[in-house]
Amino acid sequence: MTTDCNELQERILELKKKRKALILAHNYQTIEIQEIADYVGDSLQLARKSTETTGFDMIIFAGVKFMAEMAAVLSPDVPVYIPDQKALCPLAGYLDAEKIRQKKKEYPGVPVVVYVNTTAEAKSEADMICTSGSAVEVVESLGVNRVIFGPDANLAEYVRSHTNVEIINIDNRGHCYVHNMFDLSMLIELKEKYPDAVSIAHPECPIEVQEAADMVGSTGMMVRTVAESDAKVFIIATEMGLLQQLQKRHPDKTIIPMYEGAVCRQMKKHTLEKILDVLENLPSENIVTVPEPFVPHIREILEKMNKVQGKGPAVPIEVDA
Ligand code: SF4
Repeated sequence: MTTDCNELQERILELKKKRKALILAHNYQTIEIQEIADYVGDSLQLARKSTETTGFDMIIFAGVKFMAEMAAVLSPDVPVYIPDQKALCPLAGYLDAEKIRQKKKEYPGVPVVVYVNTTAEAKSEADMICTSGSAVEVVESLGVNRVIFGPDANLAEYVRSHTNVEIINIDNRGHCYVHNMFDLSMLIELKEKYPDAVSIAHPECPIEVQEAADMVGSTGMMVRTVAESDAKVFIIATEMGLLQQLQKRHPDKTIIPMYEGAVCRQMKKHTLEKILDVLENLPSENIVTVPEPFVPHIREILEKMNKVQGKGPAVPIEVDA
């Protein structure tokens, strides 16, 4: 950690107190941003945190825009700032509301489940929403023979392999470019090198990587597994920010990235300088809002998902910074 970085962190912490700001950082943020955050976690854990924490006047959400939108829906009384407005998730970009409407016309009466990685407008067209950790439970909770699903085709494949419900992709091309970087040869090579390691892949990875891994799960499941397992070495296929966090939290264990190039450029648009700028200048253009007509429906489907998720074992654990 450089002196400049330490100084920036100190100024942020000082101003954060003065402004009564809650800083939420996604698992994929840089370590220096994770260090100044009040909470670090996945998108839904952080959105929930914004509703559980009181006594603050603003939220700074260091994550991609759809995540800040969920915090804005769940915490309508405080402004939610995003440090860099261009931090948009390309996976969410695969699914616009019109594509969903078209699919609904093609399959009348079939419910639509969308992954949380979607825009507020796309969510407004969905019957249900899911996280990677709850996707199978959410699909099965509907009690139907088939569902329309999007935008991630790899996650759809994961759900397909765990349920008898027919999964109709909204867009077969939908994928997270970061998790799509992993391929089977990387895993085979690392398994040969570290035969005692436990390998874990995110369900946004290609299906052949999922099938060859010892475990498949969300970032919350990865955090829980590394903390609770007796294993000492883990090969993990997800974004580097989480791996750095895990290695820092568990110095007695060895965390091996399946591929060190797995870095989300959109998540990394946020910097300490940009967070400080928000605290100093409160730029109104960095406030994330959700069009009012979408809000009640999105809140309703988030609550429905919470109820389903609460019943199963896939509840993500909280990761405090
Ligand atoms: S890691 Fe993938 S899903 Fe997450 S924000 Fe980046 S592109 Fe989107």
